[in-house]
Amino acid sequence: MTAVVHGVDMAAIGRMVRQRHEQTAAQLRGLREQSAAVIASPERGSGDAADAGTLALESAEQSLVTAALQEQLERLQVALVRLENGTLGICERCQEQVPLPRLEVMPWAAHCVPCQSVLDRR
Ligand SMILES: [Zn+2]
Repeated sequence: MTAVVHGVDMAAIGRMVRQRHEQTAAQLRGLREQSAAVIASPERGSGDAADAGTLALESAEQSLVTAALQEQLERLQVALVRLENGTLGICERCQEQVPLPRLEVMPWAAHCVPCQSVLDRR
């Protein structure tokens, strides 16, 4: 489990992905519990129009955050699958090691930077 590919410690990357996955899942759970509490609260919803507007704005912002977290979580899940398959950090196009700084920013990256820019240009 301590495979070092091209000097990149995949065990460390794996730990980072698991940790981020847990954090993101916890954040998402927290947000969902919060919005469930707002909906369940008898004080909310009986306010005036301004309150209703604020509430709508809050929930719109919250759903944006929730959507972003959900997307992040799905990407991290992909990274976890790739980790288990042993393909995490390996470019799908050229089979080269994706550089560590790129993996730290986006561990789910399926391509190295040169390949990604070629793919983006298509
Ligand atoms: Zn590549």
